[in-house]
Amino acid sequence: MSISYVNGRYVPHANASVHIEDRGFQFADAVYEVFAVQGARLIDEEGHLDRLERSLGELAIPEPMSRTALKLVMRQLLRVNRIGYGWLYLQISRGVARRDFPAPQGLTPTLVMTVTRQKPFDPQAALKGGRVITAPDIRWKRCDIKTVQLLAGVMSKTAAYAQGAVEAWLLDDDGNVTEGSSSNAWIVTAEDELVTRHTDHAILGGITRHTVMKLAADNGLKYVERAFGLSEAKAAREAFTTSATVMVRPVTHIDDAQIGDGACGPFCRKVIELYAAYMKQGASA
Ligand code: PMP
Repeated sequence: MSISYVNGRYVPHANASVHIEDRGFQFADAVYEVFAVQGARLIDEEGHLDRLERSLGELAIPEPMSRTALKLVMRQLLRVNRIGYGWLYLQISRGVARRDFPAPQGLTPTLVMTVTRQKPFDPQAALKGGRVITAPDIRWKRCDIKTVQLLAGVMSKTAAYAQGAVEAWLLDDDGNVTEGSSSNAWIVTAEDELVTRHTDHAILGGITRHTVMKLAADNGLKYVERAFGLSEAKAAREAFTTSATVMVRPVTHIDDAQIGDGACGPFCRKVIELYAAYMKQGASA
């Protein structure tokens, strides 16, 4: 059984718990981050911590400890669990208080961390890809904040799995693809351009998305950040998703439309290679 971190203590996962009046449980008044661990290193650690601090700032939840202290705890948790490859989840809620909507001042934030062991990223296995379904984007209007309020994603991802797909791409009222339930969405155009939706309040600015943009720019691949519709996506040469947990995944079909020849195309293959090499170096984009 793994060891988890709860408010200053390292505890067996089965005994790791927070209070029933925690505002994370009562109101989803909490934020989170997920870090990939490869070769015992936290991939894009600074980028994830930047986004964590931004999420906390947007909700005026105080930082439970300094960035330096947080990094020490994360490393310690990886060490006690002997995790070389996997994921580290970190949640921070506003804290515990008698249930009432207005956020009380001066609460001590709750900080929890858990780890999951995974196989090392295998670029060959990553070529396989999968189908995505589409679903209306019914989320709130601040998807740029990484909160634990994930019910819409739970619903769309559950629907995707029930249909044998790996992800749901979410459609806004104009029929544009915003992002996946838990990933950013990309297509490749006939002009050899990688396209991913621009960031604003409607999507989460993915850290993997950002790294892929940087790797593309450094390696002569063109990319553009703009909205794209479902019909453009279905007619695209290639499509793929990015996230810290799945990294880069080719999309073979969108609903019933086959993308390209239904297998990982050359652009996505290149992105997988670049991302795998980037993680091996442990570099920071
Ligand atoms: N969008 C959403 C809604 C997500 O939940 C995630 C994964 N946390 C992403 C995009 C991808 O972000 P990242 O690359 O930082 O994991």
